[in-house]
Amino acid sequence: MPASEREQAAAAERLFFALWPDDALRRRLAQCRERLANDGNGRPVPAENLHLTLAFLGRTDTRQRACVEAMADAIRCPAFELQLNRTGYWPRPRVLWIAPSEMPEALKGLAAALHGGAEGCGLSLDARPYRAHLTLMRKLARPPGDARCPPLRWSVDRFVLVRSTTLPQGVKYDVVREWGLGE
Ligand code: ATP
Ligand code: MG
Repeated sequence: MPASEREQAAAAERLFFALWPDDALRRRLAQCRERLANDGNGRPVPAENLHLTLAFLGRTDTRQRACVEAMADAIRCPAFELQLNRTGYWPRPRVLWIAPSEMPEALKGLAAALHGGAEGCGLSLDARPYRAHLTLMRKLARPPGDARCPPLRWSVDRFVLVRSTTLPQGVKYDVVREWGLGE
């Protein structure tokens, strides 16, 4: 590998595009999480880490990052509302999640544009169908009971690019760029 490529590979970061709740919504999500699983079953996602992934890029070097940022600059997407009104449990990853039962066209279009754009920058993304959700808890030993949360309304007017770093005490997310939605 030439030295310039080695440097770029060494500078690679783990990145993903996401919708990032404001503090008020984070509090309501944390309340919902406590209502659903409060018996020591599973590991809560820290309130400051709660997010909805739009596109997971994985290891991204500096050249690819510049490419995906330029791609995101060119995206035009209206603001939209999400109703987080469905919770569920996926047994294989053992996660408890909350999601909108209806996917607004704007969200579908935004996620698809980011996926397609990132692939155009040479990244290979997860080929499974996109399922919008926020993970509330991980590593549940057993499915949660039948407690429910009131629906949470989310007015989405921006999306962000996040760097994910694995630390001994857990994962740390840093928002590195943000883009507004609207006309
Ligand atoms: P950790 O992997 O350290 O336990 P994490 O899963 O929260 O923590 P990342 O692996 O960086 O951190 O993932 C960031 C976000 O992207 C999470 O919402 C995760 O569920 C999602 N994600 C991770 N890998 C993929 C993938 N291959 N396809 C789609 N989404 C993914
Ligand atoms: Mg992960």
